Amino acid sequence: MIGRRESVSGAHFAFTDRWGGVSAAPYEELNLGGAVGDDPGAVRANRELAAESLGLDPARVVWMNQVHGADAVVVDEPWGGNPVPEVDAIVTARRGLALAVLTADCVPVLLADPVAGVVAAAHAGRPGMIAGIVPAAVRAMTGLGADPARIVARTGPAVCGRCYEVPEAMRDEVAAVEPAAHAGTSWGTPAVDVGAGVHAQLERLGVRDREQSSVCTLESADHFSYRRDRTTGRLAGYVWLD
Ligand SMILES: [Zn+2]
Repeated sequence: MIGRRESVSGAHFAFTDRWGGVSAAPYEELNLGGAVGDDPGAVRANRELAAESLGLDPARVVWMNQVHGADAVVVDEPWGGNPVPEVDAIVTARRGLALAVLTADCVPVLLADPVAGVVAAAHAGRPGMIAGIVPAAVRAMTGLGADPARIVARTGPAVCGRCYEVPEAMRDEVAAVEPAAHAGTSWGTPAVDVGAGVHAQLERLGVRDREQSSVCTLESADHFSYRRDRTTGRLAGYVWLD
């Protein structure tokens, strides 16, 4: 259910694994993604189960319509009946409002400045990382009074740089924007390390308190991996303030 949970000065970070939900194969068990072909009733039940295990009201969890872009938006309330915006980062200064990001290999990025009372959740895949979704999220936070030097950053389970094989031209293209993402697979072919790229960006932005999950989704049977399974579920990362 909850693979990892941490609290820092009233800011809470959590990442799910794939177990403890009600979805049938190939989404078993805790698929939290609503756009992957799973039964909507199962997804709703899973979101309720995950929220309950975190002590959250499922109606106070804000999701995104993620599109691998670089847009961040500030949110004060759940979307309600409004369309869910196509963004890859959401930011709030509203205490008790939880922000959620869905992934299956991409890097889920959770950020919090507990002093300013500002949190953000971002979805950083290869395209979003090079497009600058992480700087966009930090910018939106500073707009609400956050200070990068106080931001606590946690990134969750994602495909690692030794597994994320890409054509050489793509590696060159990514590395031209973010040299830290230049990687090679364990079998000696070109690769991209999106997590390393995200952390290099955070470091340059002045975010010092950073931790990266050691879990590689592609290698872990306890996590969903799009590159491994194609049709599969989505993990979630949650961040919120007391
Ligand atoms: Zn790996």
